[in-house]
Amino acid sequence: MEEKRLYGFILCVCTGKCPGFRDMDIWDLVNQVRVELPVEYGFIHPQLCEEDGDRFLADFLQVHRKVIIAACAPNMQRKMFKQAFEDAGLKMEENCVMLDIREMSTEKAFEKAKDALVKLGYEVDEA
Ligand code: SF4
Repeated sequence: MEEKRLYGFILCVCTGKCPGFRDMDIWDLVNQVRVELPVEYGFIHPQLCEEDGDRFLADFLQVHRKVIIAACAPNMQRKMFKQAFEDAGLKMEENCVMLDIREMSTEKAFEKAKDALVKLGYEVDEA
């Protein structure tokens, strides 16, 4: 049976100064996700909706890896990133899971990422 391809995990943190992220430790969160959850890799982007974020997504999406974006509200993400997916020949809804993790603790945001992966059918260790 073909092995299930893993998602990439992007944590976008609004420059790191946005109050929406003050209750979490962004480094603990991304480390916990990349070490404990079934993702291909995890990393932090400071401001994915800026022009360099567009350029980054244009490069990143070339490999057609599905991605979880943990950031702001899905409707905002949809508006800001849809074109980047379309430009890469991808339907955003099929290739991206958008999570709003603002105003959450590290633990809550981690649980949200974990739940998303369980919903996608990945096995997650219950530690
Ligand atoms: S994509 Fe969302 S979370 Fe990221 S910088 Fe833009 S508004 Fe902030």
